[in-house]
Amino acid sequence: MTALPRRAALLLALLLLAPPALAQGKPRAAAPDGRCSAAQMGAIRAAFATARTRQGEALAFFFRAPDHAHVRRWFGDAPRPVLAQNLKTIAAALAREDAFRFECLHPQACAPGPLAYTRPVGLVMGFCAGFFAAPEAGRDSRFGIVIHEASHAAIGTVDAGYGPEAALKLALKTPERALNNADNYEYFVEFLPGP
Ligand SMILES: [Zn+2]
Repeated sequence: MTALPRRAALLLALLLLAPPALAQGKPRAAAPDGRCSAAQMGAIRAAFATARTRQGEALAFFFRAPDHAHVRRWFGDAPRPVLAQNLKTIAAALAREDAFRFECLHPQACAPGPLAYTRPVGLVMGFCAGFFAAPEAGRDSRFGIVIHEASHAAIGTVDAGYGPEAALKLALKTPERALNNADNYEYFVEFLPGP
């Protein structure tokens, strides 16, 4: 759940740190490339499947009641046509699961401790230990993490605030920022009221 610029800065830092060790000619074990095992891919595909279902329910909810208290809670009075388009674009990205290149437990990318990360170049979506330990439903669930990451890839959201409190504050005080914050999309779906 890392902002793209921070991710890029970190990777750059790692690249800059790497040469001295290599230059000394020390034998180094081949760096694990973050390849996903079959079991990890199973968890990712299951999370995508749930994310598609739940995002679809959230879309239907939104179109039934665009000014419902739940919509206002997570997006304040943000323009509804923009929100509608954003929710649809995220749904479209979730439907194109095979467009992503997945990484799992990548030692460098996961070192700062994100649950997951997204790099727009090459449409890389990476999953770290916290994702695999996350619950199937509820706050910061695996499907919610996928929605969060898909929002980065699909509509270029940022991480202006992490966690429900920060997201609620954005919705209340700066709805236009809530519209561009990944966690607002995640919590809007994770906490969607039942039928
Ligand atoms: Zn994020």
